[in-house]
Parts: sequence; C-alpha cells; structure tokens
Amino acid sequence: MSSPATVYLKRGRANPLWQGHPWVFSGAILREEGTPEPGDVVDVRDVEGRFIGRGFHNARSQIRVRMVTQREEIVDGELLARRLDEAGGLRRRLSLPSPRTTAYRLVNSEGDGLPGAVVDVYGDVVAVQFTALGMKRMEAALIDALAGGAGLPGKPRAIVEVSAGGFAQLEGFGSATRVVQGEQIDVVVCRENDVTLEVEPLRGQKTGMFLDQRENRARVAELARGGRVLDVYTYAGGFSIAALAAGAKSATAVDSSSRALERARRHAELNGLTALETVEADAFRFLEGAAPRGYDVVVVDPPKFARAKKDLAAAMKGYQRLNLLAINATSDGGLLVSASCSQLVGELELERIIAASAREAGRRVQVLEVRSQGPDHPLPPAFEEGRYLKLLICRVV
Ligand code: SAH
Repeated sequence: MSSPATVYLKRGRANPLWQGHPWVFSGAILREEGTPEPGDVVDVRDVEGRFIGRGFHNARSQIRVRMVTQREEIVDGELLARRLDEAGGLRRRLSLPSPRTTAYRLVNSEGDGLPGAVVDVYGDVVAVQFTALGMKRMEAALIDALAGGAGLPGKPRAIVEVSAGGFAQLEGFGSATRVVQGEQIDVVVCRENDVTLEVEPLRGQKTGMFLDQRENRARVAELARGGRVLDVYTYAGGFSIAALAAGAKSATAVDSSSRALERARRHAELNGLTALETVEADAFRFLEGAAPRGYDVVVVDPPKFARAKKDLAAAMKGYQRLNLLAINATSDGGLLVSASCSQLVGELELERIIAASAREAGRRVQVLEVRSQGPDHPLPPAFEEGRYLKLLICRVV
C-alpha cells in the first residue's frame, strides 16, 4: 500500500485537534499532499509537520477529515473491533444492558472513536447506521466484529442496517434499511427502565427508538407521579409510558404519526397501563385547543426545527410559539419539560426562548434542571457539534 495522503493544517487551526476535536473542516486546511480517494484514511499534520492523527478523508464534505486516532496506527478491522470492545466496556460500567434496560446505544460515533458509525442495541438485535463514507467502506469489518459479539453480551440474533438518508447523500454512498446478518426480524422486544417495549428497527424513526432521552424519560417519570401528563411529540409513547409506569394519573400522547401512536397503545397494553389517551394531530393544532392550565406536566420534544443556519430564524419562532402554547397548557406550579435537538440552538438560547414564551403567557418560570443525552451517548470534550440535545425541566407558576 502506498503511504497515506497527508493533510496539513493552517497555522493556528491545529489546537482543537490536538485537544481531541474530531473534525477537520475544509477551511482549516493549508494544503494536501497526495490524492486521497473518497473515504481513504489520511494523516493530519500541523503547519510544522507534526503528526496530529489519522482519519477518514472526504473531499465532498465540509468535514474534510473525521479523526479516528491520534496514534500512528493502522486503521483496520482490528482497530474497529478494539473500539467496539472498549465501547462495550463503557456500557457495562453503566450497567447496560441490565435486566431493567436492554435498549441502549453501544457506539456513539466520534464519542466512541468510531466516527461515522452509530450502533444501537435492542435486546439481541443490533441496528447500525453509517454517517460517513470512510466508515461505510469498512462496513464488512464492523459487521463481522459485531456478528462475533464484539462489545456485546453475546452474538446477536440479527444485525440491521438503518439507512442514513440525507447523510449518505451528502457523503456520497448508498444506504438502505435491511437485515445484513442473521434472521429476518420484525418486532423486537426489549426493555427500558423495567418497561417492556416493542421496537421496529426496519420501520421506525431513527434506528427504532430515541434512545438519547432514556434518562430524561426516567427523570420526568419520577417527577410526574400522581399528575396529568401531556406528552407532545410522543413517538411510541416515550415519556407517557415511562410516566404512567411510575405512577402518573393519566397521560395524553400526541403525535402526527398514526404508526407511532399504534406503537404507543401497544406499549401501554404490554405494560398493563390503562390511563393512556393517544391523539393523532399536529402538535401546534392540538396545543392551540388544549385545556388552559389543564396538565401538571407538559412535555414538548419536537423534531429538529433548525436543520441549517438559514432555517434558524424560522426555527426560533417555532420554538417560541411551541413553548408559549405548552406553558399555557401547564397548571399552576406544574412542570414544563422542553427539549430541542437542533444543534444550532444552544442551551442558553432555549432558556431565552422559554423566558420570552413565559413573558408572553404572563407566567413565571423557574429552571430546575438542564439535561442532555444519556451517558451511553458520550462525546469528545469541547465537541460542541455533537451536543445536540437540550432538555429543560421548568416549574411554571
Ligand atoms: N418524545 C419521543 C421522541 C420524539 S421524536 C420519545 O421519547 O421517544 C419526534 C416526534 O415528532 C416523532 O414521533 C414525529 O412523528 C413527531 N412529529 C413530527 N412532526 C410533528 C407534528 N407537526 N405534530 C406532531 N408530531 C410530529
């Protein structure tokens, strides 16, 4: 094999990388030596030629290099298998899986040193999503390692690839949702905090579940005991089912997807929970007609409103209107649980949005907790781009 191509960074642009930031943006590059193929592993060096690390190159992407290692080691199947083992070790440390919880994230891309790979575990089924060409090119090695049980409690029954949609297009590879190894599967039974769930990795949103909210569902459930819960953007009943299982009096679960609500009702039935009402509606339309101060806990967990910088102004308006309507539906002394998964909307911005909404509603808000994704979604330090999820728990008076 010829020596890898080398990317030299501009003066002053190497610091974040020395500190472990995992992306080289095209604007940080001084020059490139060699002509890497899309997805090839390249060396990254600073302006003086000092070795910083190695990563996947893709000339199509603004993220020109995704760092894999800070060592002069070969990026091959063995390295991937080692990283999977390490990822499994961290999850075991977090008691994942456990008898209570068998749905969790095994690999969170850059956070586990496997850029471009997300691996979610649902019981004995594994769902993989590729978001970078370099990793997609190593697909066979990654799948083989997983099939052998790397990072897992045992060999999986099936491995599913979940299409990365827009990411794949941006990076320039094909991806489809399909079983890549093992049995054909349909519904997979798994558990989250003692709640039984049925996940459909081949048909659901994300890889089947929004695992990043697990700890938040548990926390909100704890705070919802005895209360009336309104769960807007519920998907398969996420916050509602957790709250009812923890002793909430009732839950109204709203989503625009009838398929998701079918799952939510199934989840209620599976867990013997009778106080779930599901409403198929647009979130804004529903909230506009909701009983004023009618709920003790109001959760709003919308899909990403801001996909690109140009959408930001419209997204901010959307969040503000959503939170105003949610505050209107919250009882005196009730809780507003407000999430945003737009990376472009920071935590402070979300607080400002809520403050403005509260002012417009003529209510006062106290911020009790600022939360993010759970610890099975680790990140490199100071990797702002990776911390997309914000969730605020506020008391409304
Ligand atoms: N809270 C969920 C995750 C929500 S994901 C959980 O804990 O699992 C966002 C959800 O919003 C998806 O289920 C999607 O179907 C739904 N959605 C998207 N647009 C919507 C709209 N305009 N009105 C209501 N629901 C919508």
